[in-house]
Amino acid sequence: MGAGSPESGVHAAGPLTLDACLRSGAGRIAAARGCDMAEAMMEARLIALHVTGLDAAGLLMRGPEPLSASVTEALQAAFERRARGEPVAYLTGERGFWEHRFRCRPGALIPRPDTEILVEWALELIPNPATGYRVLDLGTGTGAIALSLSAARPDADVFAVDRSPLALALARENVAFLRDQGAAAAVAMWRGDWLSAVRPESIDLLVGNPPYLAADDPHLCQGDLRFEPHEALAADEEGLGDYRRLLRAASTVLRSGGMVLFEHGADQVEAVAELMREVGLQVVGTRSDLGGNPRVTAARSPRARR
Ligand code: GLN
Repeated sequence: MGAGSPESGVHAAGPLTLDACLRSGAGRIAAARGCDMAEAMMEARLIALHVTGLDAAGLLMRGPEPLSASVTEALQAAFERRARGEPVAYLTGERGFWEHRFRCRPGALIPRPDTEILVEWALELIPNPATGYRVLDLGTGTGAIALSLSAARPDADVFAVDRSPLALALARENVAFLRDQGAAAAVAMWRGDWLSAVRPESIDLLVGNPPYLAADDPHLCQGDLRFEPHEALAADEEGLGDYRRLLRAASTVLRSGGMVLFEHGADQVEAVAELMREVGLQVVGTRSDLGGNPRVTAARSPRARR
């Protein structure tokens, strides 16, 4: 598609300015996704930061300047991918979560603000100093939870497991990415199926954001979720299958007085709490995410009477 051809959107009158390209891209995104123009413009700017390599100030300053044909084409191609539904974090390759930025790629769930409540709660539970305290993140994906915890409590022993080699490679990349951001996150990671490789009575805190959508949840066929790994989103038994499997093993791997902290769907509080009780854990409570939906439930392993 050459500059000046009708498809490229570059008018014969002259090259597009960066601002005009952003406006037309945001318009295309808003129309295709049915979101408002302010949200679409924010997405277009995030994409443009990535494509042009400019920083936020540069993007403002250079707004009135004409773009080269190649940059125009690269921007329009990226805006078009977003309009067709690809998540912004997959287009830009990163997403901010808690206190750091994490690399994102198809193959691992994009970190969500909802999950920050889990990190916040975990940091209340992890003692400070945390020497000898062992935390395990189940299904770590990008590593967002495990790495955020390790960065905040460098003296805790933080572990992470994931079944997906793609996710694990990304989580390992994120260790280095956080180091570039000045964070000393050190997480021991391995590939595995939930708790299958974990020694009994070895963990103080189990955390995780397991797949919990029902396999027929209509959201799986809509918007950004279509591009994220199905196995990170959906579970059998109406979304409860993975909680059931990992909670069965959880009571064995926890040390006396150890805790579990899991993210779940807003309508799963009672079901998850019941599964926790079934394996002998004492439910401590549930907290809501920023949208006011109950999102994280904690339970404690009873103290052994010795
Ligand atoms: N909260 C996510 C969503 O609905 C689902 C994450 C998950 O299944 N663990 O987009």
